[in-house]
Amino acid sequence: MKEMISVVVPLYNEEAVIDELITRLKATLEKIGIIYEIILVNDGSKDRTLQLAKEYCRKDNQIRLVSFSRNFGHQIAVTAGLDKAKGNAVVLIDADLQDPPEVIEEMVVKWREGFEVVYGARSKREGETFFKRVTAKLFYRLFRKLTPIDIPLDTGDFRLMDRRVVNELNRMQERNRFLRGMVSWVGFRQIKVEYVRQPRFGGDTKYPLRKMINFAMDGLLSFSSVPLRISSGFGLLCSFVSFGFIAYGLIVKILFPNYAISGWASTFVAVLFIGGVQMVTVGILGEYVGRIYDEVKGRQLYVVDEELNFESQ
Ligand code: UDP
Ligand code: MG
Repeated sequence: MKEMISVVVPLYNEEAVIDELITRLKATLEKIGIIYEIILVNDGSKDRTLQLAKEYCRKDNQIRLVSFSRNFGHQIAVTAGLDKAKGNAVVLIDADLQDPPEVIEEMVVKWREGFEVVYGARSKREGETFFKRVTAKLFYRLFRKLTPIDIPLDTGDFRLMDRRVVNELNRMQERNRFLRGMVSWVGFRQIKVEYVRQPRFGGDTKYPLRKMINFAMDGLLSFSSVPLRISSGFGLLCSFVSFGFIAYGLIVKILFPNYAISGWASTFVAVLFIGGVQMVTVGILGEYVGRIYDEVKGRQLYVVDEELNFESQ
């Protein structure tokens, strides 16, 4: 059977980068000399991304397009691309050229050596804010501590996956998708190729702080129940402390009956403290319950508005 490779690119308001992206992707794939398809997933862009992507599809039937009815988010866009991809290997790459497409060549070499997952590891990050670099570093380290999943440090979604891995991912129908964790969960032989993360080629980041926090929460909560255990831990701690106070109260009452327990302040503090712990605990519980609710509804992950060039395969 002939080898084919699918490249999946999520696009959200990426009109500034799409030309350069396609030029560099095609150059790399031609150089590798493999049959390929490029699957563009338009995640409800509000600029000219859709229009430009359609023009490319008209000119080139190796370029395909899935266009969503609205913005569903990066991880869902990638999921749609994985659903559609036909290749024996699938490469995920961001549109903004922070991950240089040229690295794909090296990934294919490793894949042909027999590795099922070849992930890009950022040896250096250029053109990203100090804040982003620090929070990303902290997050990956926290993730490793809190979950049984070993996601390699400092990797994103830039990676090549063998068909077997993609088939397993496609079986995972969960809504809160943290793909890099899911890929690690699947296992198989995984290896890294290092690259220097470039500054964005054009446009702005599509991950404002709010989305980053949500993404981080999804990642942690869908792979770890440690936060729940931490809240139980707090509960236990509070109980022990209160037992201590009860014992103290009783002893004082029995041994020193005339000694009045003054200490409204400490009572007050204890009430507030326990109240606070309870609220936090309920909040953490709520995060899980909300996600469970999301999952049990079992809605489709995304709604497709248009597809182009898939029938030509
Ligand atoms: N993206 C998307 N939907 C979104 C947000 C982002 O498809 O709701 C795409 C975006 O077009 C890009 C990739 O996801 O191809 C990564 O986004 P970005 O580069 O803005 O994230 P950052 O590198 O700043 O973390
Ligand atoms: Mg980026």
